[in-house]
Amino acid sequence: MSDIYSEDQIAAAERLLAKPWEFVRGIPSLEFLTPADRPEIAFAGRSNVGKSSLINAVANRRNLARTSNTPGRTQELNFFTVGAGDFYFVDMPGYGFAKAPKAKVEAWTDLIKAYLRGRPTLRRVFVLVDARHGLKDVDHQILSLLDEAAVAYQIVLTKIDKLKQGALERVKSDVEQAIAQHPAAFPVVLATSSEKRLGLAELKASIVDAIA
Ligand code: GDP
Repeated sequence: MSDIYSEDQIAAAERLLAKPWEFVRGIPSLEFLTPADRPEIAFAGRSNVGKSSLINAVANRRNLARTSNTPGRTQELNFFTVGAGDFYFVDMPGYGFAKAPKAKVEAWTDLIKAYLRGRPTLRRVFVLVDARHGLKDVDHQILSLLDEAAVAYQIVLTKIDKLKQGALERVKSDVEQAIAQHPAAFPVVLATSSEKRLGLAELKASIVDAIA
């Protein structure tokens, strides 16, 4: 079932993440940041990468991430708790809008930089990458930010149902090669599809592993 995790780890992660998820709040700027009082993981990715779909798939809820995708919330850090609230799940605002005004991009970058630098409880950022496109310039910029902030991160390929096996293997190995240069990158690249529900067990186990 998984090359990296045992059946017990997979089952424990399933159980934990099947508990109720609750939206805590959206953080528009750092003065509203929730206290760093428990472990936290985050999902990041270009807009349209499939982040909301993947969060919904992981949470096994139809509309959870819609909270983050409603107008006004897309530029915020959206905080969720799971179960007893032992950790935070953070949905980071999507980046790389082709037509975003410069001021908006700058505001986003400032918020993210400040968040990444000042969050000792942030255990791992899952950087979502569309399997059809691989790593784009904006993704590399985020990886550099994460390296600078010394925040651990892991690449998660999305929408792998759109690729044939050979193409998927190629993009996976390209990404693995690219991240080998990045000190903060977790060497294992995950491959997922929300639509076909592929790779979810390993992703869940990685999340639980990161907060353990
Ligand atoms: P977000 O902007 O990153 O939150 O992306 P969304 O989750 O809203 O998804 C963007 C688009 O990609 C939507 O049209 C989704 O239906 C589609 N999409 C998301 N996940 C998958 C997937 O696993 N497979 C396929 N084929 N399409 C997907």
